[in-house]
Amino acid sequence: MTAGEDIILRHRQYVMSTYAPTIPLVRGRGVHVWDADGRVYLDFLSGIAVTAIGHCHPHLVRAIRRQAGRLIHVSNIFYNEWQPRLAEALIVRSLSGGRCFFCNSGAEANEGLIKLARLWGAASGRYEVVSMLNSFHGRTLATLTATGQEKVQKGFEPLPVGFRYARFNDLESVRAAIGERTVAVLVEAVQGEGGVLPAAPEFMRGLRRLCDELNLLLLCDEVQCGMGRTGRWFGWQNYDIEPDAFSLAKGLGGGFPIGAVVAGPKLADLFRPGHHATTFGGTPLACTAALAVIETIESEGLLDRAARMGTLFQELLRERLRPFSFVREVRGRGLMVGVELDRPARPLQDELMKRGLLALATNIRVMRFLPPLIVTEAQVRRAVRIVKAACRSLESLPADAVG
Ligand SMILES: *Cc1c(COP(=O)(O)O)cnc(C)c1O
Repeated sequence: MTAGEDIILRHRQYVMSTYAPTIPLVRGRGVHVWDADGRVYLDFLSGIAVTAIGHCHPHLVRAIRRQAGRLIHVSNIFYNEWQPRLAEALIVRSLSGGRCFFCNSGAEANEGLIKLARLWGAASGRYEVVSMLNSFHGRTLATLTATGQEKVQKGFEPLPVGFRYARFNDLESVRAAIGERTVAVLVEAVQGEGGVLPAAPEFMRGLRRLCDELNLLLLCDEVQCGMGRTGRWFGWQNYDIEPDAFSLAKGLGGGFPIGAVVAGPKLADLFRPGHHATTFGGTPLACTAALAVIETIESEGLLDRAARMGTLFQELLRERLRPFSFVREVRGRGLMVGVELDRPARPLQDELMKRGLLALATNIRVMRFLPPLIVTEAQVRRAVRIVKAACRSLESLPADAVG
């Protein structure tokens, strides 16, 4: 039995089947990861937008090692030296006059947003959140209800009350979904799980106007599109608007679990002791990791790189994939890139993996690429060559074998 087979057998016996994992990975460095049998892959998935500065970036590793030997956890009933520094680093880059709450995941950050909205609306008897169809907000009961996709809700009814849905990029649909009890609109600047769909500028600006007009909160889920992925620190910054609050997780800790609720001045002072809490949120270790990620994005100019490499990647894909009739569209923002096919994308994902490129199909027909922000031009070009070769091999199969 190889080392890889041993991992797979043990996993299958003892770990719940919530995922159907593929390759056993054991080591990573920069844009590359290695499997248990020593094979190297170009990682254009980044743990689903998590390892934003690549695998085991020396600055992140050093920061985690140093803090792990000094103080890992204390509880939020004490101050710790790194939590306020991280909050400051996020606030100076986003909502001036705001404050942060730290948690451990994206779903938890969105729960925080929803609780914040309900508490704000309580005085006026409003609690309903309008979210978008095709969105993704997490797997807890409230966030899977906010998620506008039946497939994540099925089997978990009854769902919590207080959620309504509108069509993404359709302002009239949002207006129609708003009722007397509505308190907030929740939106992703780029729908990630939904198939890498950027919000239209008129839609985001229209939402901001609509929320102002009706005294509603505009909440952005930045869990996937935040932390530099779109070429700005936060996805909403591409639209010249400010949300009232937004959520972060995935890329924030560069692989160390941490999430955040970032609230602007309207909501910053709302949570008082007893309203909301989490044991692990904002430990010295997690905050040190997130600060190291922010420092690295800043010192290595990764926002600019994400924008430039994203444009190059999209242009090359558009050009090189033109001959393939099953490729419908190449789209995205920064290093959130999707290739929509006229058929399920999973066979393409498998072909890419065989050729040493990791990426993840989403919403059935979209091949999604989320390379780390440190990706180089040579690596982008290599990935495009692999995608082209994989498409060519799919083309030679009969259509029904591919779909
Ligand atoms: C992944 C994701 C979440 C959920 O984050 P978890 O850390 O898995 O709970 C929420 N919203 C968006 C947009 C995501 O991409």
